[in-house]
Amino acid sequence: MSPNVYQFLDVARAEPAKAPASERIRDFNEIYGCFDAASAAQQAGRCLDCGNPYCKWQCPVANHIPQWLRLVEQGNLFEAAELSNETNTLPEICGRVCPQDRLCEGACTLNDGFGAVTIGAVERYITDEALSQGWRPNVRPVSGTARRVAIVGAGPAGLGCADILARNGVRPVIYDKYPEIGGLLTYGIPPFKLEKDVIKRRRQLLEAMGAAFVLNTEIGRDVPFERLLNEYDAVFLGMGTYRFVSGGFEGENAHGVHQALPYLIANVQRVMDPDCEGGDDLSMRGQRVVILGGGDTAMDCARTALRQGAASVTCAYRRDEANMPGSRREVANAREEGVQFLWNRQPVAIDTHDNGWARGVKVVTTVLGNPDAKGRCKPQPIPGSEETILADRVLIAFGFAPNPPDWFERYDIATDARGRVRAAAVAPNGGYAFQTYNPKVFAGGDMVRGSDLVVTAVFEGRRAAEGILAYLEATAPLAAGSP
Ligand code: FAD
Ligand code: SF4
Repeated sequence: MSPNVYQFLDVARAEPAKAPASERIRDFNEIYGCFDAASAAQQAGRCLDCGNPYCKWQCPVANHIPQWLRLVEQGNLFEAAELSNETNTLPEICGRVCPQDRLCEGACTLNDGFGAVTIGAVERYITDEALSQGWRPNVRPVSGTARRVAIVGAGPAGLGCADILARNGVRPVIYDKYPEIGGLLTYGIPPFKLEKDVIKRRRQLLEAMGAAFVLNTEIGRDVPFERLLNEYDAVFLGMGTYRFVSGGFEGENAHGVHQALPYLIANVQRVMDPDCEGGDDLSMRGQRVVILGGGDTAMDCARTALRQGAASVTCAYRRDEANMPGSRREVANAREEGVQFLWNRQPVAIDTHDNGWARGVKVVTTVLGNPDAKGRCKPQPIPGSEETILADRVLIAFGFAPNPPDWFERYDIATDARGRVRAAAVAPNGGYAFQTYNPKVFAGGDMVRGSDLVVTAVFEGRRAAEGILAYLEATAPLAAGSP
């Protein structure tokens, strides 16, 4: 029990310090600072220990939140880090990028009137601070068994899978087509939300646990999938979703119209290596930029364009603010930084100059109809409401759909009508968690559930690893030194 269970009455909810908007748009550094020991303990001490930890049930990896909050309050940092890293492969990253307002903090008992405990910021503090003080995850040596599992994709799902395999003495070998690990953590989420050194540090930890990375290697092109099936005891696929959703309107391929992800990747590459080739091709410096979309990717594009020195940045979304999918925190940050929002505007065409370059976006105003079965209101255009928003560059952020490669079919890796790999947390007919129709192949993350979140991909990768361990055990017991 806390020495003072009513601390939440005396201590208000507080976030770590945030750089002022006018300063933070001058660089790509993370905008939030980190708690120090005293403020972390004070915020952690606001936890009521309410008995039924709704926060934990709402956290996809079921973190032991009240327990590590208590340890932080008591100053037992290393114990808190051990506990936090037991249930989450990337706690310092989830602490930064999870939409806590609709997960753990949204479910906190204090959220109803007093302000939720700042769970995400404390989670981040625990691992950042413990690592800087020399703490390292306590894992058994990886020489436990001679089993090896190939992982395709070094994103959150692949890393979650590697973590659990390594902790159980099975050596994970992770292939990725990019030169760095992280998937969308590195080549998607901008550095002002997640600095790239945080991912490099996680790479070192995973390597110290026995994980091996084979980078710049695309499976199906540089290495045939068949080789993984022949050389490894099982294979996990965590390849993400990379087909851009298009708007299907006229002018989408005009000059000056770009898809969100290539734009964000080009920016990350330039931040990581300012001398990289072609780095300036996708700069928005001096341009009037319009972003189409209302999710986190749209916010990331808008805030990146501002930092690149855009003359103006406007985000047009077809529903209203209350119905946009983006995290409230990120919308607020974008607004503070100077992004303009146009709600209830649906794009119908890109207006172009005679030379084929974008001149603006033709939009219609919408009203929201009744909610559908999923509770989402369909926008309905108002006749005669057409207008053009002038723009030199247009960024399209309508989301991502699965892109299963041709070779899946050859190896019995089945997909559903939307292209998502068929695999489930609770496998039917006595199968193993996240096993595909090919018994030796498992899958998880965005390619199974569709574009979602870092923490749900971590959960699926970890759960799939448990499925793989059970499958290996059933094929031949996992005794030390077994083939
Ligand atoms: P990915 O992260 O996509 O990783 C897949 C990996 O597989 C990639 O590294 C890819 O190179 C590799 N790969 C694919 N095919 C092959 C192949 N044939 N051979 C070798 N390697 C291959 N989520 C949040 O929780 N918070 C956020 O703030 C947030 N912001 C986001 C911002 C943007 C711009 C985007 C695009 C997404 C954001 N997300 C956010 C979503 C989150 O990043 C994803 O849900 C998560 O990364 C999915 O993890 P994954 O491992 O399934 O796939
Ligand atoms: Fe909250 Fe995400 Fe951390 Fe779970 S992983 S406690 S949802 S911030």
